[in-house]
Amino acid sequence: MIERLGSGSPVRLFAGGLHGDEWETTTPLLEGLTQPLTGTLLVMSKVSGNEYLSTLDRDYYTHYAPHLLEAIKEYRPCIYLELHSYSKDNFSILTGDGRFERHGVPAYIEIEAGVLMGSVSPHIRRDHFSPYDLCVSFEMPKRASGQSLKVIGRLLDLVKECRDREAFVRYMKTHYPEQTKVAVRNYLRFYGDLY
Ligand SMILES: [Zn+2]
Repeated sequence: MIERLGSGSPVRLFAGGLHGDEWETTTPLLEGLTQPLTGTLLVMSKVSGNEYLSTLDRDYYTHYAPHLLEAIKEYRPCIYLELHSYSKDNFSILTGDGRFERHGVPAYIEIEAGVLMGSVSPHIRRDHFSPYDLCVSFEMPKRASGQSLKVIGRLLDLVKECRDREAFVRYMKTHYPEQTKVAVRNYLRFYGDLY
């Protein structure tokens, strides 16, 4: 269920295929990851293929995917990444301004080529991670283009080699300054009390 690559700290946990059929897009990417240069990478490449339930649902981590929550509690990763996939119809739901008002979470930001970045569900962010941990959720298009695959591949490799949140934010600020400005603003709007 969980593949371990490398050893020692930092401990990173990547989860993909979190619900429904998104695993068809995301699982092959996570299975292709290699050992990080330092520390540990834990990969749960297919959390569940059961009928879709949002990670924003209160039951997601406790009932739908308790094995994911158990892994978070057991391994205490300081870097946690979820890789989701979306169909084009849902683009505006994920990135729209109303997301905060409707779902109480910041909207996703498009990084490049349809690859989106956002926060993980408040159901785990607040209770199971420290404010200093890096928790990031990426959404990639289903039936992704070559360009999308290149972008998400680069981002996965980046997070895989990061030693802490600062290294990630530094990279993103350099390479995606506009998007990072909005992402940080969104994050602080929701999790500002964590700082
Ligand atoms: Zn998903």
